[in-house]
This record gives sequence, C-alpha cells and structure tokens, in this order.
Amino acid sequence: MSSISIFGLGAMGTALARTLLKNGHTVTVWNRTRSRAEPLAGAGAKIAESPTEAIAASELTILCLVDYPAARAVLEQAQEALAGRDLLNLTNGTPGDARELGTWLAARGAIYLDGGIMAIPPMIGGAGALILYSGSRALFDRHSSTLEALAESRHLGEDEGLASLYDIALLSGMYGLFSGFLHASALVTSAGGKAVDFLPLLLPWIEAMSGTLPDLAGKIDSGMHGRDVVSNIAMQKIALENIVRASEEQGVAPDFMRPMLRLAGDRVDSGGHGDDISAVVEVIRKRK
Ligand code: NDP
Repeated sequence: MSSISIFGLGAMGTALARTLLKNGHTVTVWNRTRSRAEPLAGAGAKIAESPTEAIAASELTILCLVDYPAARAVLEQAQEALAGRDLLNLTNGTPGDARELGTWLAARGAIYLDGGIMAIPPMIGGAGALILYSGSRALFDRHSSTLEALAESRHLGEDEGLASLYDIALLSGMYGLFSGFLHASALVTSAGGKAVDFLPLLLPWIEAMSGTLPDLAGKIDSGMHGRDVVSNIAMQKIALENIVRASEEQGVAPDFMRPMLRLAGDRVDSGGHGDDISAVVEVIRKRK
C-alpha cells in the first residue's frame, strides 16, 4: 500500500480520496477551505496543515483543483518541498497549461505526470472510469497499482500535453454528439413530436453512422479523401443546405449546422467535389 497526498477536496478530489482510502492506502489531504477535509478525517485521512506538509507526507501527491492557476498557486506555497517528489496533476486544462506546469516543476526538481479524468465523481473506482496520463512514464510505472484503483489507466507518451489534448478531443466528440442530438430534437419537437419518442429512430441511426468512422479515419490519416467515396462532399453540402433551410422553415435556428455547411462548402469551392466528408479536416487544420 502506498502513501498519497491529495490537494483539492471538491467533488472529484473527495471521490479520489475516498477510493484510495477504501483500497487501504494512507491518504493525507489538504484543501484551501479546511472544513471540507474534516469528513475525510472521519474516514481515516490525515489532514495536512500546509501544502508543504502534504507533499512531504507521501510518496505521491495528486492535485485536483478547479484550474491550473489554482494548482500553481498551491504549488508556489510549497516550492521548498518539491525537489525529487512525484506529482500527478488531474486538474483540467489545455495541453499548453500542462507543458508549462511541467517545465515549472522540472525547474524545481519535481517529477511530473499529467492526467485527464474521463469520468464523473461517482464513477471513480468503478467500471467505466478512464484516466488518460502523459508525462513521466517512470512515475506512471512506479504508481501504476495505485492509479488502477481509481480508474482504467492509459499512458499516452512523455509529452505532458497529450493527456489534456486527448481529453479535449474526446470531449469534442461528445459535444458533437450532443449538438446533433439537440438540433434533431428541436426539429422533431417543432412539429409536435416528442424527443423521447424520437430516440428509437435516432440511436440505431447514430450507431449505423458510427460504422463509417473507421473508413473516414483512414482517409484522414492517409490524406486520400477521394478514395472509394460513396457519399461525396458536394452531395453532402446540398444535404447540409437542406438541413439549414428545413430548420428555418420550422422556426429552428440552424446555428449548430451552419458551420458544418460552411466548412464542407469551402472544400467543394476549392475543387474537392469528389472527396469524402473526411476532407473537412484539411479545411479546419489550416484555419487558425
Ligand atoms: P469543485 O468545484 O467541486 O472543487 C474545486 C476545488 O478547487 C476545491 O477543492 C477548491 O477549494 C479548489 N480551489 C479553487 N480555487 C482554488 C485556489 N485559488 N486555491 C486553492 N484551491 C482552490 O471541482 P471538482 O472537484 O468537480 O473538479 C476538480 C477538477 O477535476 C477540475 O479540473 C475538473 O475539470 C476535473 N474534473 C471534474 C469532473 C466532475 O464531474 N466533477 C469530471 C472530470 C474532471 P475550496 O474548497 O477551498 O473552494
């Protein structure tokens, strides 16, 4: 069993601490607002009086704060304790935030692993929870059994920014799905339908269309967007125009759909009529 310190006892930090306690680890906690730590003391955690004391207490320190400025503010209070210590930051941010913190910690002799939590607090320690990691592989290997108690673990590489990048990419997929669902629901309910009754049509359709993603992914990786195309982008641009026109007819704002129409249109206008929809990636990669 290992000793772990946790900084940040919001909903997520508390779930991490409780899971580690349940698994028999020695847990030390520190939170800006001390009263939030007290229920955990009842469950067996030690409360540190300062960030320095918390880092010194354990083999691994986990940060789970609201954002990177908060994480940095806490670490600045404990600079003298950082040399040679293992630090895992599970605070959500951008790849740039993670790389900048990694550089700052390396200058103080700390070993750094960044992580992106693909779960909500009640999922921690249970099936379906995933945490993506990047940064020090040595730290990840040293603490792998502790990390496995929290969630399935995946180390993506030594570049500290990768966990955040993949976290954001997964969230982008999720919000794409949500925006399609919200727009479709607005259309159906505009004619008196019920979103709940529409789901038995929508869910198998989404599943069937998900089956086209391996082919599109292969085209994105190879850049061969014109290979074996069954639904060319010029045809799909017209379908997108029809979605926008139909939405307007129904009094539904086409705001979710207009960007896709514009991007597909850009590819068609630059001569890509016969390409697959995968070619939109070429358009957005070039845009800043
Ligand atoms: P909460 O809002 O519940 O908790 C925020 C924590 O940050 C508290 O411990 C708070 O301390 C601390 N904090 C805020 N500002 C400062 C500061 N300036 N200095 C020191 N501590 C500070 O957030 P969550 O626990 O839900 O989220 C924590 C991280 O986990 C976030 O990065 C979030 O994106 C990520 N995450 C959360 C998920 C969720 O569903 N909850 C899912 C996946 C990731 P205090 O008690 O003193 O206010």
